[in-house]
Amino acid sequence: MVEKKVVIVGGGVAGAFLAKTLQHQANVTLIDPKEYFEIPWASLRGLVEPSFAERIVVNHREYFKKGDLVVSTAVNITETEVLTADGQQVAYDYLVIASGHTEPIPKTRTERLDQYKSENEKIKSAKSVLIVGGGPTGVELAAEIAVDFPDKKVTIVHKGTRLLEYIGAKASRKTLKWLKSKKVDVKLEQSVDLNSTAEGNKTYQTSSGETIEADTHFLCIGKPLGSAWLRETLVKDDLDADGRIKVDEHLKVKGKSNIFAIGDIIDVQEIKQGVYAQGHAQLVAKNLKLLIEGGGKKLGTYKAQPPISIVSLGRKHGVAQFPFMTVLGRFPGMIKSGDLFVGKTRKDLGLEPNVKKS
Ligand SMILES: Cc1cc2nc3c(=O)[nH]c(=O)nc-3n(C[C@H](O)[C@H](O)[C@H](O)COP(=O)(O)OP(=O)(O)OC[C@H]3O[C@@H](n4cnc5c(N)ncnc54)[C@H](O)[C@@H]3O)c2cc1C
Repeated sequence: MVEKKVVIVGGGVAGAFLAKTLQHQANVTLIDPKEYFEIPWASLRGLVEPSFAERIVVNHREYFKKGDLVVSTAVNITETEVLTADGQQVAYDYLVIASGHTEPIPKTRTERLDQYKSENEKIKSAKSVLIVGGGPTGVELAAEIAVDFPDKKVTIVHKGTRLLEYIGAKASRKTLKWLKSKKVDVKLEQSVDLNSTAEGNKTYQTSSGETIEADTHFLCIGKPLGSAWLRETLVKDDLDADGRIKVDEHLKVKGKSNIFAIGDIIDVQEIKQGVYAQGHAQLVAKNLKLLIEGGGKKLGTYKAQPPISIVSLGRKHGVAQFPFMTVLGRFPGMIKSGDLFVGKTRKDLGLEPNVKKS
């Protein structure tokens, strides 16, 4: 029997887990602009400890051995093909869009690991660090630096009224207090226009006219959604006002019989989490198997998940929001902050928890 062709666009958490799960059940092609998968929630540890990055940057070929890998960016979709920036036309019977968020990062694992090393040098050689943005990335980075390099002066400038606005106000308050206890200076309701700061200049001006001296800075304002490329495609009418893809209860793009979407890019009303993206991948793998086998069995349905989230605060602490409770301290730290789920995620991908030295 001819295997059905499944094309997955995006090799992030959702796409990578789907590719791994489905590779022996269908003829799978994974399209991603880089040769590797990266565990996103561990990247900030990689900045303070570059050897940690070796465990979190995994070549796609390590867990996705059977299918085809196209290292390019998807730029268009027709009824039967995905077109890529390097001119390939990749035919599909079923398409899964998992293009979450985008950012310009290097193509190869070696280049990416070098980038971690040079960012680490930037931190080590600075006496003071400015972090622009107080969402999860800015907060986790500030905490990593404050814990590993307590002598460095860390400042967060955040334009919102509170840190970590994607979760509850209690988590924000506790986090602010913790950061202050580590001597991190947090400036809320202010922004910094980095474009008006000349390269090499160590003086930054905030929107309220404050001056911050910092040897280096990191921009942590969140990556744009990876859906701009869909605006002129056959799913253009299936995007909501934020650019998220509207899906039905089976995670099919609304009104399309053979196109699914998973991960941060979908409009399901839940906190955007990798663990939920893995759940989407699991469900769509199951639904695709049912469709490929035929037989008319009912497809599985997806239920939005509760607003649970843990933000790591250095190596031992964390702040966790559970449905009826928000806790800061060693308990959430024990769940997340030691290994940042890296061993677990590698195991889920069928890999050893550590990278074997050759
Ligand atoms: C600081 C921080 C901490 C976090 N902590 C946690 C945590 O503790 N637990 C948790 O569960 N989640 C956590 N998250 C959230 C988690 O990282 C995301 O929910 C998850 O990465 C979403 O996965 P995704 O596959 O949908 O998208 P992404 O991981 O963004 O992957 C998208 C992929 O698609 C590719 N792509 C984009 N456009 C195209 C295109 N046109 N063609 C081809 N490929 C394309 C990208 O290159 C990328 O590889 C955290 C996030 C951050 C920032």
